[in-house]
Amino acid sequence: MQFLDNFLDETHHMVRATCRRFAETEIAPHAYEWEEAEEFPRALYNTAAEAGVLGVGFPEEVGGSGGSYLHAVMAIEGLMRGGSTGVTVGLGTAGIALPAIIQSGSAELIDRFVRPALAGETVSALCITEPGAGSDVAGIQTRAIREGDSYRVNGSKMFITSGVRADILTTLVRTSDDPHLGLSFLVIESASPGVSVSRSLKKTGWRASDTAEIAFDDVVVPADQLVGPEGSAFVTLMKNFQMERLALAAYGMATAEIALEETKKYVAERKAFDRPIGSFQVTRHKIADMATQVVALKTLVYQVAKRMEEGFDATTEVSMAKNLAAETAIAVTYEAVQLHGGMGYMRETLVERLSRDARLLPIGGGTQEIMKEIISRRL
Ligand SMILES: Cc1cc2nc3c(=O)[nH]c(=O)nc-3n(C[C@H](O)[C@H](O)[C@H](O)COP(=O)(O)OP(=O)(O)OC[C@H]3O[C@@H](n4cnc5c(N)ncnc54)[C@H](O)[C@@H]3O)c2cc1C
Repeated sequence: MQFLDNFLDETHHMVRATCRRFAETEIAPHAYEWEEAEEFPRALYNTAAEAGVLGVGFPEEVGGSGGSYLHAVMAIEGLMRGGSTGVTVGLGTAGIALPAIIQSGSAELIDRFVRPALAGETVSALCITEPGAGSDVAGIQTRAIREGDSYRVNGSKMFITSGVRADILTTLVRTSDDPHLGLSFLVIESASPGVSVSRSLKKTGWRASDTAEIAFDDVVVPADQLVGPEGSAFVTLMKNFQMERLALAAYGMATAEIALEETKKYVAERKAFDRPIGSFQVTRHKIADMATQVVALKTLVYQVAKRMEEGFDATTEVSMAKNLAAETAIAVTYEAVQLHGGMGYMRETLVERLSRDARLLPIGGGTQEIMKEIISRRL
């Protein structure tokens, strides 16, 4: 979309093109099969790292390939061309699991956990949500009790993306009773005795990604796997939510744009009453509305990413972008399915998958209602 090219320099174009090439060759040919199997090969993490796709947005000093917020948006835009949000988010859990370690962890933690994950050798996941607490992060109950040089962890986590096969779990734990200052991050290795996947969860969409309920039963974690000082996790988490919400806005943006393109192609080819269905005025107007929504959303997402790169506090606007992205992705994929007729209801059709994937957007990473709380309080 050349209209928005003024936001981008050649590094942004390069990241998007590299990720798109990777997605079209390594993901798209298998997307349907992996969605149906509800998993993609673990080896894809290595392939993605080798292609320079996994480390976008991470500093080179910790093993990333550099770039900032808008580069991360470009990576998502490119990767989504593989036609599977599930694969994109599965590959992308490093983007939510590693930032806390990079910002507040010791050099040793970075060497042990960040570099191997960005090299595609290990899988990482972020464990915040619990069966009893999602939106209310301060309500989490997983407890870590200090015993000498280690912590003993008990509790459980819910809906953890990549959690079924993650090697390292950046885990929010309660180290004291204070609702906010009692929260800390521990890096827990899934191979530790007492860590188990209680359930691999079946989902409406994002099917190629695995999602776990994880139990911690008397897990002993060395105290040097604490990320930053005890009690510092809430502030870190709130800061990192901004990138997660920008990423979710980018998923919505890419979902809507791809659904629009698929639909434009389909209505040009499909005939009814001896005419392409795209020649009916009602169809053309739907396409016009979908395209308008996509351009409006994309403009907001790019602008928010750009302002975040410049250090602007875009907490309000990134929450708006996440909500607009969710609404737009759902509205555009709804019309895309409608204009595909019966084919729009078939699992082999890309817009059908995108319409299921879009439904997660007002729920994950902070619900639509929580975003409105943030926006309205800051207004
Ligand atoms: C596919 C998928 C992947 C996920 N991946 C991860 C992951 O990798 N790591 C992780 O930690 N979590 C993950 N999550 C969890 C996700 O972030 C939570 O589901 C989300 O934050 C909502 O929490 P909840 O499900 O407990 O809903 P609840 O908090 O129970 O909310 C239920 C409803 O109540 C509303 N509500 C709650 N509080 C308020 C309020 N104050 N005002 C108005 N309405 C309110 C909500 O908006 C929602 O509509 C994932 C979830 C899914 C479905």
